[in-house]
Amino acid sequence: MEAHVKAFMSGDPVCIDPDASVLEAFERMWERGIRHLPVCDLARRVVGVLALEDMRASLPFPISLRRPLEPGERQAAREWRVGEIMSHAPETLGPENSLAEAAERMAEHRIGCLPIVDEQGCLAGLLSETDVLWALATSLGLRKGEERRGRAGDLAALVSELERERERIRARLAGRQEAERTLEQSDRELPLDEAEHGTNLTEIRSSRTLDELAIRRLAALDHALDRAAQGVLGICERCGGPIPVARLRALPGATACVACARAD
Ligand SMILES: [Zn+2]
Repeated sequence: MEAHVKAFMSGDPVCIDPDASVLEAFERMWERGIRHLPVCDLARRVVGVLALEDMRASLPFPISLRRPLEPGERQAAREWRVGEIMSHAPETLGPENSLAEAAERMAEHRIGCLPIVDEQGCLAGLLSETDVLWALATSLGLRKGEERRGRAGDLAALVSELERERERIRARLAGRQEAERTLEQSDRELPLDEAEHGTNLTEIRSSRTLDELAIRRLAALDHALDRAAQGVLGICERCGGPIPVARLRALPGATACVACARAD
């Protein structure tokens, strides 16, 4: 059986107007944790694709979905139009095209997402690299019979991802403490000269900073996993709306959506 694009694309994707500001585009990506936006005219015909990469290449400050823009940067981003930095006339495919063709097209042109259009050229869906990887996992028999993941599936996947991260951090911290103990011990038994001692101390100090960050991350992971156990992970404590999975991945301890967090 041949796999078709329509089985793996996300339907009803969010798009943006070429005349919208780059700030608006950034916020749309930020809220949804996505790196590509199809650009559509008023008839919803696809006229371009804006990638986070395009913003990075055009704006004179770092752009990341992990960091909100500062006021000056927001002002600068407001002065750019989406149509000025997007890629025009992008590659597109139809929902009935084969997934193999889509994957080949994306690999060949090194594109991270493919807008899927109907016969009129209007946006019908979006196929991302991640969608193609899910399709691959399915065809390899890893997800037999599983439905396309919805919000619940995304959260479940996030929870196991966070659990694995917690285990890795715990193991690393335990290893570090052990190494430090050994070092102190050998220091007592066989005192080092000043220079050697200095090097070791610097190393210990810099990894201590990293440890502190890791301990903070660990607390955030504990908090997120507690909330998951209570069935409230991903629900904004203030407005009750959803917190995007990308935000939870970056800030597992987040208990408010971006809009509510910004209202502080
Ligand atoms: Zn909220």
